[in-house]
Amino acid sequence: MGCRKTKDKSELIRIVKTPLNSIEIDLNMKLPGRGVYICPEKDCVKKTLQKKVLSSAFKEEIDTPEVNEFFERLKKRLEDKIVSLIGISYKSGRVSSGRTQVKEEMIKNNICLIIFTEDASTDLSDKIIKYCDQKKIRYYWFSLKQNVSKALAGKERAVLGIKDMRLAKTIEKNIETLNNITVA
Ligand SMILES: [Zn+2]
Repeated sequence: MGCRKTKDKSELIRIVKTPLNSIEIDLNMKLPGRGVYICPEKDCVKKTLQKKVLSSAFKEEIDTPEVNEFFERLKKRLEDKIVSLIGISYKSGRVSSGRTQVKEEMIKNNICLIIFTEDASTDLSDKIIKYCDQKKIRYYWFSLKQNVSKALAGKERAVLGIKDMRLAKTIEKNIETLNNITVA
């Protein structure tokens, strides 16, 4: 629901109705009950979060969340999901971290995606981005060192390289969704 653009299900956000007729965000598409898929673009979410629209989609009177509150919740869920995906990658040995290691792995063509934390120095990011451009590797900024360290067994690193293509794609998709709703 939202715009009329055709999108893959994986690009949409599933919401479900709770027993109390409010809305729960189901990023992992696992919660039981009737689900509705919404386009995660800001304007589309705003359109969808109207009582009339939601109630007709769920065929029941829905306690409609306040738009900003919903965005904050969605943002938090996406951030948690990205950190957990980085954690999964890290545990399976598919994350390089820190300037030296990331650079080495980029030279060996082992990196599919670069993530800088938002508190990374521009000196660091400028240097790594040069390699990204050469190697055609995509890069994003996400969260803060301290937050991401939860996924890295406590290590605080300002740059990460994801070495697994499938995980990289999933992380990238979630970061893009997050950026779409965060942009004013
Ligand atoms: Zn849309």
